[in-house]
Amino acid sequence: MRQVLDLDVGARRIRVQAGIRLEELSEALDHAGLAMPILGSIGKQSLAGAISTGTHGSSLRHGNLAALIDSIRLATPRGEVLALDASHPWLPAARVGLGALGVVTEATVRVVPAFQLQESVTFVPITEVEASLESLAAGDEFVKVWWFPTAPEAMVFRLTRTDRAPVERPLARWFDEQITNRIVFEGVLRLAGRVPSMTAWINRAIVRSYFGASSPPARSFRAFHLAMPPLHRETELAVPIGRAAALLADVRTAIATHGWRINFPVEIRFVAQDDAWMSPAHGHPTCQIGFYQAQSADLAPYFAAVAAIGREHGGRPHWGKEFDLDASALRTLYPRFDDFVALRRELDPSGTLRSPALDRIFGSDAAG
Ligand SMILES: Cc1cc2nc3c(=O)[nH]c(=O)nc-3n(C[C@H](O)[C@H](O)[C@H](O)COP(=O)(O)OP(=O)(O)OC[C@H]3O[C@@H](n4cnc5c(N)ncnc54)[C@H](O)[C@@H]3O)c2cc1C
Repeated sequence: MRQVLDLDVGARRIRVQAGIRLEELSEALDHAGLAMPILGSIGKQSLAGAISTGTHGSSLRHGNLAALIDSIRLATPRGEVLALDASHPWLPAARVGLGALGVVTEATVRVVPAFQLQESVTFVPITEVEASLESLAAGDEFVKVWWFPTAPEAMVFRLTRTDRAPVERPLARWFDEQITNRIVFEGVLRLAGRVPSMTAWINRAIVRSYFGASSPPARSFRAFHLAMPPLHRETELAVPIGRAAALLADVRTAIATHGWRINFPVEIRFVAQDDAWMSPAHGHPTCQIGFYQAQSADLAPYFAAVAAIGREHGGRPHWGKEFDLDASALRTLYPRFDDFVALRRELDPSGTLRSPALDRIFGSDAAG
């Protein structure tokens, strides 16, 4: 289920089977002089998995990947195949469907002419980042922030469009993925797990050696994607941009109060608003803040604190990462929640797609 079915270069539309990997989709588009307007950090996901969970990149001028979907074919548990085009009232439900409405078998994606990007990195105190989140987000097309909580300064990454020829670096990419991330960083993280007092020192060394230098121009999809990171866990919250600084400051205070040693960056990204019923960016431009940690004794209390702070600030969870909210909390965060539950009941009357996760999210009485 990963074939390109139709590529209309003039109309800038591609129709694909929904199991296609994002990196395969980007390669197919590139051959035709086209590209995805935005992507997240990796390209290993299926298109279906990425859109169904609200997967996103970082730009206030672009929505998440589901926002690029023009039409979907959905095989429902009732045994029918629905063609949901742009005018169909259920498309905004099915675009970020969490696998709850049926199996997405095909999708049509709006794309753009191929483009190149040049990355630059600046170091800014995290308190300054918090104080200027709105202007930071609005200032560039593609901007994201990484902050290692052991450091006073965050890294602001900007991707700027360029006409300069892309520099292919297959060997460097292979080295980053197979050697630096899989062997060096994995080993270093194990060391930090055994000797937590080294975490800040290790984080500093990683930042200096790996993120200091700016990268050459690259094809957009290569510039968006990073080498596959070492094994770690993630939780992520989406809030209106105006609430993000307070949420971040609360997490910062919790980390400092408890002395947790955080060995992965906090990632601050921005997503334009959209109308998908269950999209974390539904209804307002959003700051999506990811909290990551490789295995360590501090992981459980850190994620529990982030979850509690997220509840206080009305944070919507990333559907593809860890969260503990249930239907009663989620209903208050999503204005179309009950419409989604009603549609789920209609499309899956006997609860064929029920799972423990979906029962928690929508309530065990919401299907079947
Ligand atoms: C290293 C790494 C980096 C990441 N980077 C980002 C990032 O930059 N931005 C971001 O937002 N997220 C990011 N994520 C999260 C990731 O994009 C999501 O977890 C995504 O869902 C994974 O895609 P998948 O194809 O593996 O999905 P799966 O795990 O296969 O599916 C996820 C869910 O999607 C639904 N689904 C899958 N296929 C279908 C289908 N055919 N029909 C209906 N429903 C379906 C199901 O509910 C399923 O549970 C990252 C994850 C990892 C591991």
